[in-house]
Amino acid sequence: MRISSPFAWRGDGFPPILDAEIPNHLERIRDLGIPSIIDIHTHFFPETIMKLIWRWFDNANWAIGYRLPEWERVKRLHHNGIKHFTTLNYAHKKNMAKSLNDWVFANLRNWEGAIPFGTFYPEEGVLSYVKQAVEVYGFLGFKLHCEVSKLNLNDPELSDTFHYLEKKEIPILIHTGTAPLPGEFTGIQFFKPFIETYPKLHVIVAHMGAHEISAYASLLGEYPNLALDTTMVFVDFLATGNAGDVDSAVPLLETYQNQIYFGSDFPNIPYNLNHPISNLLALPISDTAKQKILYGNAKNRFFK
Ligand SMILES: [Zn+2]
Repeated sequence: MRISSPFAWRGDGFPPILDAEIPNHLERIRDLGIPSIIDIHTHFFPETIMKLIWRWFDNANWAIGYRLPEWERVKRLHHNGIKHFTTLNYAHKKNMAKSLNDWVFANLRNWEGAIPFGTFYPEEGVLSYVKQAVEVYGFLGFKLHCEVSKLNLNDPELSDTFHYLEKKEIPILIHTGTAPLPGEFTGIQFFKPFIETYPKLHVIVAHMGAHEISAYASLLGEYPNLALDTTMVFVDFLATGNAGDVDSAVPLLETYQNQIYFGSDFPNIPYNLNHPISNLLALPISDTAKQKILYGNAKNRFFK
């Protein structure tokens, strides 16, 4: 059955939604000489919030491929050779971020291989709960979502927090791009002044900054601590741009191979986890670039 969606599928091929018993990318990963995949972009939310998010996707005709209980989702990641993955979530409003961080910390032991990420929001006390997440909880990164959170990266209420994370060299993964939907504060015109203000901040731009991939990529040379994640870019589901955008982004993976991370957006993807992995493996880039993107860059970042 073809899933109806506002976003186009490339060609006629439709990737299966169910995991194969033995995903065919596992052998390729072994041949590449990497022990596993590290996924920089996977979501963990308290069940009630996750269900609300799924309802939103349902209304957008965006099938959720892994609508499963949380323990089973963790099993699916391991089944696909993803032995380490982040715990991304974000606040939709004030007075929510700290409790999300507390929830991640409380549940972390149930998620074998999880790399703990927190979130924050422009509000009173933001620096103090971010410090707690880093210094007490041991979180290794943070996630911000400019579109859903209606968050302006240039908000002065966040400047102490950004300076703190810059000094601590803690990465922030930011959905700042206009894909799949633009927001009040998304796009390169908000991101550029932000990275100019905190030039040493370790920032990972989600979805390679789609729909403005080349504008974000043009900053990589000048900002060595800036990186992009491949989430939903090299897939046949064209939520991050048309086929031409995707094709022209391929050479960036070779040029900036030290500044690119593999991400999936699991579990909120309308296809099987095999799909983004095998598509990436099939791209005309070097094996070295593939090793770094799927594993090495994240390993160096989080498991020094
Ligand atoms: Zn995401």
